[in-house]
Amino acid sequence: MSHPPPVSLNLNIRGLGISATLEIQQRCAELRRQGREVFNFGLGQSPFPVPQSVVEALRRHADKKAYLPVHGLPELREAVAECHRSRDGVDIRPDCVLVGPGSKELMFLLQLVFYGEILIRTPCWVSYLPQAQIIGRRVSRLHTTFDDHWKVRPEALLRAIELVHDDDRPRILVLNYPDNPTGLAYSADELRELAEVAQRFGVIVLSDEIYGPLHHRNAHVSIARYYPEGTIISSGLSKWCGAGGWRLGTFAFPPDLRWLMDALAAAASETYTSVSAPIQYAAIRAFEDGPDILAYLRDARRVLAAVGEASYAILSEAGLRLHPPQGAFYLFLDFSPFAERLAARGIRNSATLCEHLLEQIGVAVLPGSAFVRPRSELTCRLAYVDFDGAAVLKAAAAQPDGPLDAAFAAQHCPNVIEGCRRIAAWVGRL
Ligand code: PLP
Repeated sequence: MSHPPPVSLNLNIRGLGISATLEIQQRCAELRRQGREVFNFGLGQSPFPVPQSVVEALRRHADKKAYLPVHGLPELREAVAECHRSRDGVDIRPDCVLVGPGSKELMFLLQLVFYGEILIRTPCWVSYLPQAQIIGRRVSRLHTTFDDHWKVRPEALLRAIELVHDDDRPRILVLNYPDNPTGLAYSADELRELAEVAQRFGVIVLSDEIYGPLHHRNAHVSIARYYPEGTIISSGLSKWCGAGGWRLGTFAFPPDLRWLMDALAAAASETYTSVSAPIQYAAIRAFEDGPDILAYLRDARRVLAAVGEASYAILSEAGLRLHPPQGAFYLFLDFSPFAERLAARGIRNSATLCEHLLEQIGVAVLPGSAFVRPRSELTCRLAYVDFDGAAVLKAAAAQPDGPLDAAFAAQHCPNVIEGCRRIAAWVGRL
């Protein structure tokens, strides 16, 4: 007897495909196999290698084979808490740290165990909403605009809260900064204002700070400074430590929300049990912030600032709408100044726009629709990571301290610069 597959699928999963970021990576690999030139600005993966001392720690601990406690290795929880204290100036208790196989999984568990409303800004990271869909959770979207620098403003948060006349309704607001997909960050004042509203209504903030140490000016501020009792800080090894494939993420809870952490841990104990033991031992080295880690982060920030700035200059000069990047490795491009000319070529939404960019000039970017923007909006995310991170870090370390310039970006990250030039030339030909 044959079983037609869609019929036996859980309703929540129907229509969901592989996450857009992972799909574009497979597509680029396939095109490169066919001998096509591809500028891969699709997947938001750190271009930098894992710091050598962390790799060595992993080697040393390859024999660790026991299941570890579900909340995480105590020494690692201690190191994570200390890291938040020294990097972010936030007091975190080690017994309030939860370690998981990537912050993505921890976010999934949070959405699973929390009963209440989840507020998510758009554009948003690709997985927040599909996770909600899988669980069957309704999510409220906070739409933002280019002119507002794609940021949640306190008035908008207030409006969303007051829309439902129930002040005691449990809510989680998800914030991400430096931000994927826009590369922008909130200022301390903006965070303070948001914190005030969240505090007033008892809204829990899930503060996704996975790119915090990659703030280009090393000026990351956590909202937990202004709302310590209601903020969960999300971080992990994937971005600032270049170790996405190691799968280790962390949540730091305030003591008042231990009940929520323990609920996540209960769900974790029945699913993944604990994060791979050697990875947890090695991660201690990363979170300890030794001199080599600090130098690595300093040079990663210098490189990203130079490449982001050079890319921004080329694209804004060409007439695209975008903001100068402040952190991480993303630019969010708005092609609306070319809307009429694009429409004349049959390009009326972000997915078709990205198809054309890939097919015609070999530039892989992700459509704004993958970040929950309206389909017809002509936006896309460019991840400026197509360069040899190990070689570029070495080159940066050999330069005198201080900012790196556009000439450095052009010499050491030629694919990024060439890809941006191709986009500029393409819109020029429309
Ligand atoms: N949050 C943001 C904003 C991200 O961009 C990513 C990864 O791309 C994640 C969370 C998930 O990271 P991980 O599961 O590797 O910790």
